[in-house]
Amino acid sequence: DLLVVGSANADLVVGVDRRPGPGETVLGSDLVVHPGGKGANQAVAAARLGARTALLARVGDDAHGRLLRASQQEAGVDTGGVLVGGAPTGVALITVDPSGDNSIVVSPGANARLTPGDIRAAAPLLATARVVSVQLEIPLDTVAETARSLAPGTRLVLNPSPPAPLPDEVLAACDPLVVNEHEARFILGEGAGSTPESWARGLTALGPRSVVITLGADGALVSDTRGGDPVRVPSPRVDAVDTTGAGDAFTAALAWRLGLGEDLAEAAGYAVRVGAAAVTKEGAQASFPTAEEVAAL
Ligand code: ADP
Repeated sequence: DLLVVGSANADLVVGVDRRPGPGETVLGSDLVVHPGGKGANQAVAAARLGARTALLARVGDDAHGRLLRASQQEAGVDTGGVLVGGAPTGVALITVDPSGDNSIVVSPGANARLTPGDIRAAAPLLATARVVSVQLEIPLDTVAETARSLAPGTRLVLNPSPPAPLPDEVLAACDPLVVNEHEARFILGEGAGSTPESWARGLTALGPRSVVITLGADGALVSDTRGGDPVRVPSPRVDAVDTTGAGDAFTAALAWRLGLGEDLAEAAGYAVRVGAAAVTKEGAQASFPTAEEVAAL
């Protein structure tokens, strides 16, 4: 089974002709509310593919929290690990201008209250997971506790987004560390080099057991310390409409396929198809494909 440990947000989206300056008010379009957050997105992406998936997250005792629980359940996610209370549900306040550019304010809310103690209390969920997938929209201490709490043989998949410096004990547990170009450059800093192969070498030197770098339309590069050279995994060619959530769909699919026993290159070969399918539709969770849609690609 796949366990996703991460964030759940309500995305509140309003279209504007232009953004207000300081002290100014502008009128916008009707409000649209979408379920989001990287943890919630990954769990929905995996469940829609048919993966047995559970989400460990925290939401507020409010309407946004209920929306998130309902969208998870509709996708078939086990929400027994979704904790309630402590702060309002996390929200992303998003304005979209006519050119399609987003401006986003995130209030982490309950996501910031998912504690190491919550991870320890969820021991039964962790014990039954073959793969645990985490991101960085929850406290780093909680991510570290997750890494320490894995049952023997359970794989940790970490997408360090939004990117932040990672403790060595977390890096050492990653199998794989999954990054896009931006995250790779952030983690490597100066001297990152200019090719995905150089980023893979640099990231591997930081201690993870394996590394996956997503490359947008170019697919992914995978590198396993137990195998030989880094391998390129091309993405199917598609007409991209909206890339929101593509990385979450990719990572969820990768984690699920690794749990089924595929090797890193095989799992990435499936995940690039899931990512490619996700960019052919608008939205994040709304764009995630079923297994049938992936097969038809
Ligand atoms: P992120 O969304 O985190 O920035 P990427 O842009 O690398 O990550 O996208 C993740 C995955 O989604 C890619 O590895 C690829 O499989 C798929 N993908 C993204 N953009 C495209 C595209 N334009 N065409 C085909 N596949 C894409």
